[in-house]
Amino acid sequence: QIDIKKLLQNLGIEQINHSSSTGKAWSSSPKAEAKVIYSPVDGKEIASVKFADADVYNATIQKAEEAFKTWRTWPSPKRGEVIRQFGDALRGKKEELGQLVSYEMGKSLQEGYGEVQEMIDICDFAVGLSRQLYGLTMHSERPAHRMYEQWHPLGVVGIISAFNFPVAVWAWNASLAMVCGNVCVWKPSEKTPLTAIACQHIIQKVFEKNDVPEGVSCLVVGDRSIGESMSNDKRIPLVSATGSTRMGKAVGAALGARLGRSLLELGGNNAIIISKDADLEMSLVGAVFGAVGTAGQRCTSTRRLIIHESVYDNFRDKLVKAYKQLKIGNPLDENNHVGPLIDKDAVNGYLESIEKCKKEGGKFVVEGGVMEGAGYESGCYVRPCIAEAKNEFEIVQHETFAPILYLMKYNTLDEAIAMQNGVPQGLSSAIMTINLREAEQFLSYGGSDCGIANVNIGTSGAEIGGAFGGEKETGGGRESGSDAWRAYMRRQTNTINYSDKLPLAQGIKFDL
Ligand code: NAD
Repeated sequence: QIDIKKLLQNLGIEQINHSSSTGKAWSSSPKAEAKVIYSPVDGKEIASVKFADADVYNATIQKAEEAFKTWRTWPSPKRGEVIRQFGDALRGKKEELGQLVSYEMGKSLQEGYGEVQEMIDICDFAVGLSRQLYGLTMHSERPAHRMYEQWHPLGVVGIISAFNFPVAVWAWNASLAMVCGNVCVWKPSEKTPLTAIACQHIIQKVFEKNDVPEGVSCLVVGDRSIGESMSNDKRIPLVSATGSTRMGKAVGAALGARLGRSLLELGGNNAIIISKDADLEMSLVGAVFGAVGTAGQRCTSTRRLIIHESVYDNFRDKLVKAYKQLKIGNPLDENNHVGPLIDKDAVNGYLESIEKCKKEGGKFVVEGGVMEGAGYESGCYVRPCIAEAKNEFEIVQHETFAPILYLMKYNTLDEAIAMQNGVPQGLSSAIMTINLREAEQFLSYGGSDCGIANVNIGTSGAEIGGAFGGEKETGGGRESGSDAWRAYMRRQTNTINYSDKLPLAQGIKFDL
């Protein structure tokens, strides 16, 4: 049980009813209607918030633009030091913030804590990065010339995030963007604004202590219209947007039309290939966690299992048995495996997908349905289900953000890889095999076409050290580790002539 008032208080939230913050001041438009936020866990009201209007939005972006002029002059390691302190502040609030993530979004408490841990990890990464924003030096073709490249910040970075990772995705973007010298304006999902407000309070305290200029980290609570304003706003050179492919196409088109930059992290349709040489016990854990974890609401959730025909019946029976043992209920109770979907619209989407699958000829070996009775009052709890299906079914080609798992059979690995790649999305993929030849083929240029390809690990989840993102309709963006920081900076090539002559490149002659 959660004492929500106390939890919000412990998170230092003083201003719930305001729609935006520039890192110091909180403001709200007087005419804005209060929106009540309900928990999918028990259907109870958590709090009401106010969505920002155009005036509040504009004032926030203006503040951010002003802050950029100062923030970009701070040495990067000094910016890193502030992010180090932010990571420490998160360590101090991990329990409370994890609980609020779990209660507002509906993921398990373990996953709520995990999400905050991911924020801490990326802060640590960003601190190191603040001393490693390296550019190359090149040898000039001209005598007494020096050539090198350097990386400069872009300015105001817009961050639009989805409900399912209500805080980590912001931290992935913001911590890197800020050590790179940018200022950030965050529009969280309208379904999970309270965790965002909590994060803003945490960072605000750290920033005040360090005299960070007001406007470096801004929050604008609102619906998609704020996201649309950001996409069309020339003051924002980069919009990083996480969410559905439908949203990404709109954001990408708007940014493309003004030749701004977009970083898109969109839907997945992730498959695991279960080979005849798979460790089936390990595969079972990976597949079940991937399919039912976060109630199937991860962009990396396992949606399809492509199983070798020789182990198909055996593995299907193991899955059915495992699904019978799943405990569905309050995600704050650590005995439960599966929590609720985010809201009743998501429940309807789940039910419609089941119907569509049946119409196309899918055969359910574990039936779905909505849970009823004590403990399920929110109406958001559903049964994870499994259907035998075909890859070409329209519904299988589509990402349903719910715990529906499709099984299909294969004969040759070429066939399995073609099925794995034969969807519009390209985020996460995996093969379960102890056969080196199969593993290497899957990882080769002729193998998986996804941004993430794993061997003997499921599709779900990722560490912050690698670049995260996917191909095709997943949007092509990369965030988090490796050299993903470059997306938040502009590259400048510099050539310096320290001779008393002016030779032209390519030996071109020009005499006066
Ligand atoms: P959503 O697309 O409904 O909303 C995401 C965000 O975009 C929200 O803040 C919303 O207000 C905003 N938005 C919606 N339409 C917009 C528009 N036209 N212009 C600007 N902003 C707009 O997604 P959701 O239901 O919150 O999240 C689930 C989706 O997110 C799934 O498809 C999932 O796979 C995807 N996701 C992807 C990743 C990834 O890294 N690839 C991570 C998490 C979630």
